[in-house]
Amino acid sequence: MSIEKLTALEIAAKIKNKEISATEVAKHMVSQAVKTKEETGAYITVTEDVAIEQAKAVDEKIANGADLGPLAGVPFAIKDNICTKDILTTCGSKMLYNFEPPYDAFVTKRLADSGCVLIGKTNMDEFAMGSSNETSYFGEVKNPHNHDCVPGGSSGGSAAAVAANGAYFTLGSDTGGSIRLPASFCGVTGIKPTYGMVSRFGLVAFASSLDQIGPIAKDAADCAAVMNIISAYDNMDSTCLDIERPDYMKSLENNIKGLKIAVPKEYFNGADEDVKTAINASLKQLEEMGAIVEEVSLPVTDYALAAYYIISSAEASSNLARYDGVKYGYRAENFDNLSDMYFKTRCEGFGDEVKRRIMLGTYALSSGYYDAYYKKAQQVRSLIKDAFTNIFAKYDVIASPVYPTVAFKRGEKTSDPVKMYTGDICTVSANIAGIPGISVPCGFGKDNMPIGLQLMANAFKEDVLLKTAFAYQQVTDFHKGI
Ligand code: GLN
Repeated sequence: MSIEKLTALEIAAKIKNKEISATEVAKHMVSQAVKTKEETGAYITVTEDVAIEQAKAVDEKIANGADLGPLAGVPFAIKDNICTKDILTTCGSKMLYNFEPPYDAFVTKRLADSGCVLIGKTNMDEFAMGSSNETSYFGEVKNPHNHDCVPGGSSGGSAAAVAANGAYFTLGSDTGGSIRLPASFCGVTGIKPTYGMVSRFGLVAFASSLDQIGPIAKDAADCAAVMNIISAYDNMDSTCLDIERPDYMKSLENNIKGLKIAVPKEYFNGADEDVKTAINASLKQLEEMGAIVEEVSLPVTDYALAAYYIISSAEASSNLARYDGVKYGYRAENFDNLSDMYFKTRCEGFGDEVKRRIMLGTYALSSGYYDAYYKKAQQVRSLIKDAFTNIFAKYDVIASPVYPTVAFKRGEKTSDPVKMYTGDICTVSANIAGIPGISVPCGFGKDNMPIGLQLMANAFKEDVLLKTAFAYQQVTDFHKGI
């Protein structure tokens, strides 16, 4: 088997046992990343020099007998909205086309300190706004399973890179589904942790009350290994929780007997038959493994999308006010005075989708409309939280599709933003409630495209999600990849 097809834990074991050096692996994976970039557009930047330098340092430590972490020497990539010191961090936008941050994000540093080897920065929807990875200034990303289809968004590059064997794992960010959706469309595993479990220091903000960083990998075990590294307290992010985290690797026991799974019927409204069939088959499989599966109702789901698009756009309009051409990033070349410079910089630097969100958000926050939109959305947010609390009083896990269809065709939804937004119906509620969610490959549908099963759990229960996904992956092979 070619080494790029191994999992992160498998290649790490080979490096540790000195079957192969970290430097050899890094060189091979850099060439894989370059190939993936050419074929799918999944990468914006490939960081060959950094990768070789980091890999050499790992080899040296191994030669000196140092006991390195479980993912030492493993090549990985980071979504381009997460800061990497002196390495281009564009957010997929012309606005940051030349931005090299003077510091590393918390997660970047943690992974470097654990001996992981950075091979590049992945493509994404501009400022993480989108579900198809078609809004990047650096070009769209193609789904490795079928280049005519989208990879999902906004972490489309991160999911496509893993699916195309162009990285062992990647980091994504998830504000309303951007880890789970591309993971589902590309047939890989991705988890959005509980709000506050992973520091967002160095993550370029989209909607601060919803954003979370999480791993995308080939399977749940790799996700658990990455979570063990990135989930830790950080005093640089005031929303990062100062609590004890479990050892996610230890939670991977292959036993889900008695696990209570709720299946909300509203999440199947409008889903295609192939998706329903795959999800139902996976639920049957979980039942055979000892889980108890019951249908429930979550009627408040109907309001989740509206609340999400108001809250996220409102927060985005505020967060993106900082891009004014003064401090960093793009600045318009020709302008008459200061306000003309602001105006032209923002007109020329932002793409259409970002401008649309800024306008939506500014409108929802304006006096006279604040109560009708923003306040109402926050009230719906409370209702959604309460509805989840009630379900989790009786159940361990909620199961649903990630998306109503398999990956759609590139260009299919670009002219109709509302159509694009409505697809996010199954994923946004987890962010609104701050709870964790995972996408697990569970079958193939139309045109043999991958389908993901979404599992959500109560806050801080990512160990239950990882364990369930792990157990499921012991008896299925939908995650085995291309
Ligand atoms: N698709 C959603 C949006 O466009 C979610 C994006 C995200 O999670 N970053 O806002």
